[in-house]
Amino acid sequence: MDDVLRGTVALVTGASSGIGRAAALTLAGKGAAVALTARRAERLTELADRIEAGGGTALVLPADIADEAEAARVVERTVEELGRLDTLVNNAGLMLLGYASESPLADWKRSVDVNLTALMHTTHAALPHLVRAAGDGPRKVADIVNVSSLAGRRAVATATAYCATKFGVVAFSEALRQELAPQHVRVCVVEPGAVDTELRGHNSPEMQQALEQMFGGIERLEAQDIADAIAYGVTRPWRVAVTEMVVLPTEQV
Ligand code: NDP
Repeated sequence: MDDVLRGTVALVTGASSGIGRAAALTLAGKGAAVALTARRAERLTELADRIEAGGGTALVLPADIADEAEAARVVERTVEELGRLDTLVNNAGLMLLGYASESPLADWKRSVDVNLTALMHTTHAALPHLVRAAGDGPRKVADIVNVSSLAGRRAVATATAYCATKFGVVAFSEALRQELAPQHVRVCVVEPGAVDTELRGHNSPEMQQALEQMFGGIERLEAQDIADAIAYGVTRPWRVAVTEMVVLPTEQV
């Protein structure tokens, strides 16, 4: 464990698997107390046990953050139990692929609800706490990290709603960054390429096969590769704002 985030508190959404799980472990390894949220409580408990076995502090807050009240409760419980909030990692997401003409409208709405609206829920609730943390903490800075995607910079067929949400996350992040800069709250948007996680598992066998054809021949990133990028951004000295990171598998074109 190194100590660079000692005394700080991080909230990680989507901590039950993939990138969020790796990010929570990594931030805890740097001394942050971490609040873990997602819907699958057992996964969060297993992660918290692991963090605590390593000498860290973890708080399990199961929630569906697409629900405004649940998202607000997660932020409030984090501050009540852990005392403050220095780092918000908005990572929860889902990727529902399909041709537009064949996609249920419900899939598009669910994509917006989870990838964009839920991120706004946690951000809105966290803002006053982050501003306070930047003002009174020894590091003189607080952080929001929003996990978008390469699909937030390059739209692709069969990912209409997913791309719309991820472009939205990029725009939201940049506008927020400009507003919060004077208060020392940094906003970083991370845009991964293909990462080996459970994300693609929510799609039809046909769509999973199409993804396999697109990316199966290359070495995908590991969740830890993105966790490392997140940790890099939030461990810079207060004067350094890493605002955008595109992280791709070397072989991805
Ligand atoms: P996973 O499917 O492994 O993780 C997604 C996480 O989001 C899970 O912890 C899931 O938890 C959580 N989640 C989903 N819906 C909700 C909800 N309503 N409320 C709370 N939590 C929710 O995928 P990744 O780790 O790959 O995805 C993390 C982020 O990275 C996503 O935003 C994704 O778009 C982005 N990304 C991923 C890429 C990839 O190739 N894997 C590439 C580019 C970006 P639970 O089900 O327990 O609620």
